[in-house]
Amino acid sequence: MPANRIALVEGDIAVQHVDAIVNAANTSLLGGGGVDGAIHRAAGPELLAECRTLGGCPTGEAKITKGYRLPAKFVIHTPGPIWRGAPSPVGAVSTGEGSGVGGRDEDRLLANCYRNSLSLAVRHGVRAIAFPSISTGIYGFPIERASRIAVREVKAFLEKESGIEKVVFVCFSRGDFTVYQSALEEIANQ
Ligand code: ADP
Repeated sequence: MPANRIALVEGDIAVQHVDAIVNAANTSLLGGGGVDGAIHRAAGPELLAECRTLGGCPTGEAKITKGYRLPAKFVIHTPGPIWRGAPSPVGAVSTGEGSGVGGRDEDRLLANCYRNSLSLAVRHGVRAIAFPSISTGIYGFPIERASRIAVREVKAFLEKESGIEKVVFVCFSRGDFTVYQSALEEIANQ
Protein backbone atom coordinates (compact mmCIF):
# COMPACT_ATOMS: atom_id res chain seq x y z
CA MET A 1 0.00 0.00 0.00
CA PRO A 2 1.51 3.35 -1.00
CA ALA A 3 -0.32 5.21 1.80
CA ASN A 4 2.26 4.27 4.44
CA ARG A 5 5.06 5.42 2.14
CA ILE A 6 3.62 8.96 1.98
CA ALA A 7 4.19 11.37 4.87
CA LEU A 8 3.02 14.90 5.50
CA VAL A 9 4.89 17.44 7.60
CA GLU A 10 4.61 21.13 8.29
CA GLY A 11 7.97 22.90 8.11
CA ASP A 12 11.00 23.92 6.10
CA ILE A 13 12.00 21.57 3.29
CA ALA A 14 15.65 22.65 3.54
CA VAL A 15 16.09 20.88 6.89
CA GLN A 16 14.55 17.55 5.87
CA HIS A 17 16.72 14.48 6.30
CA VAL A 18 15.93 12.68 3.07
CA ASP A 19 18.10 11.64 0.11
CA ALA A 20 16.67 14.34 -2.17
CA ILE A 21 14.58 17.46 -1.79
CA VAL A 22 12.65 18.92 -4.69
CA ASN A 23 12.95 22.60 -5.48
CA ALA A 24 10.02 24.49 -7.04
CA ALA A 25 12.42 26.33 -9.32
CA ASN A 26 11.98 28.71 -12.22
CA THR A 27 13.07 27.81 -15.74
CA SER A 28 16.36 29.72 -15.46
CA LEU A 29 17.38 27.59 -12.44
CA LEU A 30 19.23 30.67 -11.27
CA GLY A 31 17.39 31.09 -8.01
CA GLY A 32 14.30 32.97 -6.94
CA GLY A 33 12.12 33.64 -3.94
CA GLY A 34 9.98 31.31 -1.87
CA VAL A 35 11.19 27.77 -1.43
CA ASP A 36 13.86 28.25 -4.11
CA GLY A 37 15.46 31.07 -2.11
CA ALA A 38 15.29 29.07 1.11
CA ILE A 39 16.98 26.05 -0.50
CA HIS A 40 19.76 28.14 -2.04
CA ARG A 41 20.40 29.97 1.23
CA ALA A 42 20.66 26.71 3.14
CA ALA A 43 22.72 24.87 0.51
CA GLY A 44 25.28 27.65 0.03
CA PRO A 45 26.68 29.33 -3.10
CA GLU A 46 27.98 26.09 -4.60
CA LEU A 47 24.40 25.17 -5.46
CA LEU A 48 23.93 28.24 -7.65
CA ALA A 49 27.33 27.62 -9.24
CA GLU A 50 26.24 24.11 -10.28
CA CYS A 51 22.83 25.38 -11.44
CA ARG A 52 24.59 27.85 -13.74
CA THR A 53 26.11 24.92 -15.64
CA LEU A 54 22.71 23.32 -16.37
CA GLY A 55 21.37 25.73 -18.99
CA GLY A 56 17.92 26.10 -17.40
CA CYS A 57 15.06 23.60 -17.41
CA PRO A 58 11.69 23.60 -19.23
CA THR A 59 8.47 23.73 -17.20
CA GLY A 60 7.44 20.26 -16.01
CA GLU A 61 10.89 18.73 -16.49
CA ALA A 62 13.51 18.14 -13.80
CA LYS A 63 17.26 18.43 -13.29
CA ILE A 64 19.41 17.19 -10.42
CA THR A 65 22.30 18.72 -8.49
CA LYS A 66 24.17 17.92 -5.34
CA GLY A 67 22.78 19.20 -2.02
CA TYR A 68 26.00 20.79 -0.74
CA ARG A 69 25.36 22.08 2.84
CA LEU A 70 21.86 20.59 3.01
CA PRO A 71 21.17 17.39 4.91
CA ALA A 72 19.85 16.02 1.58
CA LYS A 73 22.39 14.56 -0.84
CA PHE A 74 20.55 15.86 -3.91
CA VAL A 75 18.32 18.72 -4.99
CA ILE A 76 15.91 18.02 -7.84
CA HIS A 77 14.93 21.26 -9.54
CA THR A 78 11.60 21.37 -11.34
CA PRO A 79 9.89 24.50 -12.66
CA GLY A 80 6.15 24.31 -12.07
CA PRO A 81 3.58 25.93 -14.35
CA ILE A 82 2.40 29.47 -13.71
CA TRP A 83 -1.36 29.29 -13.08
CA ARG A 84 -3.43 31.09 -15.68
CA GLY A 85 -6.60 29.01 -15.93
CA ALA A 86 -9.87 29.19 -14.11
CA PRO A 87 -10.52 26.64 -11.35
CA SER A 88 -12.55 23.57 -12.34
CA PRO A 89 -12.89 20.04 -10.98
CA VAL A 90 -9.65 18.05 -11.07
CA GLY A 91 -9.68 15.67 -13.99
CA ALA A 92 -11.88 17.90 -16.16
CA VAL A 93 -11.17 17.24 -19.81
CA SER A 94 -9.17 19.95 -21.50
CA THR A 95 -10.81 21.24 -24.64
CA GLY A 96 -7.79 23.17 -25.82
CA GLU A 97 -6.35 26.63 -25.93
CA GLY A 98 -8.79 29.41 -25.21
CA SER A 99 -11.36 27.21 -23.51
CA GLY A 100 -10.43 28.75 -20.18
CA VAL A 101 -10.04 25.58 -18.16
CA GLY A 102 -6.85 23.64 -18.62
CA GLY A 103 -6.31 25.28 -21.98
CA ARG A 104 -2.86 26.27 -20.95
CA ASP A 105 -1.97 22.82 -19.74
CA GLU A 106 -1.31 23.68 -16.12
CA ASP A 107 -2.64 20.40 -14.70
CA ARG A 108 -0.59 18.24 -17.05
CA LEU A 109 2.57 20.29 -16.53
CA LEU A 110 2.21 20.12 -12.75
CA ALA A 111 1.72 16.34 -12.93
CA ASN A 112 4.87 16.16 -15.09
CA CYS A 113 6.85 17.94 -12.35
CA TYR A 114 6.04 15.19 -9.86
CA ARG A 115 6.48 12.33 -12.32
CA ASN A 116 9.76 13.58 -13.81
CA SER A 117 11.22 14.42 -10.39
CA LEU A 118 10.42 10.92 -9.13
CA SER A 119 11.87 9.23 -12.25
CA LEU A 120 15.08 11.23 -11.92
CA ALA A 121 15.24 10.35 -8.23
CA VAL A 122 14.98 6.63 -9.00
CA ARG A 123 17.79 6.91 -11.55
CA HIS A 124 20.02 8.31 -8.80
CA GLY A 125 19.17 5.67 -6.22
CA VAL A 126 17.06 7.99 -4.06
CA ARG A 127 14.90 6.17 -1.52
CA ALA A 128 13.43 9.08 0.42
CA ILE A 129 12.37 12.33 -1.23
CA ALA A 130 10.62 15.49 -0.05
CA PHE A 131 8.39 17.75 -2.15
CA PRO A 132 7.23 21.30 -1.51
CA SER A 133 3.84 22.39 -2.78
CA ILE A 134 4.99 23.15 -6.34
CA SER A 135 3.40 26.17 -8.08
CA THR A 136 1.08 27.12 -5.22
CA GLY A 137 3.13 30.10 -4.01
CA ILE A 138 4.25 32.85 -6.36
CA TYR A 139 2.97 30.84 -9.37
CA GLY A 140 -0.61 31.01 -8.06
CA PHE A 141 -1.86 27.46 -8.72
CA PRO A 142 -4.90 26.86 -6.45
CA ILE A 143 -3.64 24.59 -3.69
CA GLU A 144 -6.77 22.43 -3.38
CA ARG A 145 -6.35 21.46 -7.00
CA ALA A 146 -2.53 21.24 -6.95
CA SER A 147 -2.46 19.06 -3.83
CA ARG A 148 -4.78 16.53 -5.42
CA ILE A 149 -2.62 16.36 -8.53
CA ALA A 150 0.48 15.96 -6.33
CA VAL A 151 -1.00 13.14 -4.25
CA ARG A 152 -2.49 11.37 -7.28
CA GLU A 153 0.83 11.41 -9.18
CA VAL A 154 2.92 10.31 -6.20
CA LYS A 155 0.50 7.50 -5.40
CA ALA A 156 0.48 6.25 -9.01
CA PHE A 157 4.27 6.34 -9.12
CA LEU A 158 4.70 4.46 -5.85
CA GLU A 159 2.31 1.77 -7.03
CA LYS A 160 4.58 0.91 -9.95
CA GLU A 161 8.00 1.78 -8.49
CA SER A 162 9.31 0.10 -5.34
CA GLY A 163 12.69 1.93 -5.33
CA ILE A 164 11.19 4.95 -3.59
CA GLU A 165 10.45 4.06 0.01
CA LYS A 166 9.25 7.41 1.31
CA VAL A 167 7.74 10.57 -0.13
CA VAL A 168 7.33 13.49 2.25
CA PHE A 169 5.08 16.43 1.39
CA VAL A 170 6.45 19.47 3.22
CA CYS A 171 3.90 22.21 3.80
CA PHE A 172 5.05 25.63 4.86
CA SER A 173 1.91 26.65 6.74
CA ARG A 174 -0.80 25.04 8.84
CA GLY A 175 -3.38 25.98 6.20
CA ASP A 176 -1.45 24.23 3.42
CA PHE A 177 -0.94 21.21 5.70
CA THR A 178 -4.69 20.92 6.23
CA VAL A 179 -5.37 21.06 2.50
CA TYR A 180 -2.82 18.31 1.82
CA GLN A 181 -4.25 16.25 4.67
CA SER A 182 -7.68 16.22 3.01
CA ALA A 183 -6.13 15.38 -0.36
CA LEU A 184 -4.28 12.45 1.21
CA GLU A 185 -7.37 11.20 3.00
CA GLU A 186 -9.34 11.47 -0.22
CA ILE A 187 -6.84 9.90 -2.61
CA ALA A 188 -3.91 8.07 -0.99
CA ASN A 189 -5.94 5.92 1.36
CA GLN A 190 -8.31 4.69 -1.34
P1 ADP B 1 6.14 28.55 -6.99
O1 ADP B 1 6.83 29.65 -7.73
O2 ADP B 1 6.32 27.19 -7.63
O3 ADP B 1 4.72 28.87 -6.67
P2 ADP B 1 6.99 29.18 -4.25
O4 ADP B 1 8.33 28.98 -3.66
O5 ADP B 1 6.50 30.58 -4.40
O6 ADP B 1 6.99 28.39 -5.63
O7 ADP B 1 5.91 28.42 -3.39
C1 ADP B 1 5.72 27.04 -3.39
C2 ADP B 1 5.32 26.60 -1.99
O8 ADP B 1 6.50 26.50 -1.19
C3 ADP B 1 4.39 27.56 -1.26
O9 ADP B 1 3.39 26.80 -0.61
C4 ADP B 1 5.31 28.21 -0.22
O10 ADP B 1 4.60 28.59 0.94
C5 ADP B 1 6.23 27.05 0.07
N1 ADP B 1 7.51 27.36 0.72
C6 ADP B 1 8.19 28.53 0.81
N2 ADP B 1 9.32 28.35 1.50
C7 ADP B 1 9.38 27.04 1.87
C8 ADP B 1 10.30 26.24 2.61
N3 ADP B 1 11.42 26.74 3.13
N4 ADP B 1 10.01 24.92 2.77
C9 ADP B 1 8.89 24.38 2.25
N5 ADP B 1 7.99 25.08 1.54
C10 ADP B 1 8.22 26.40 1.36
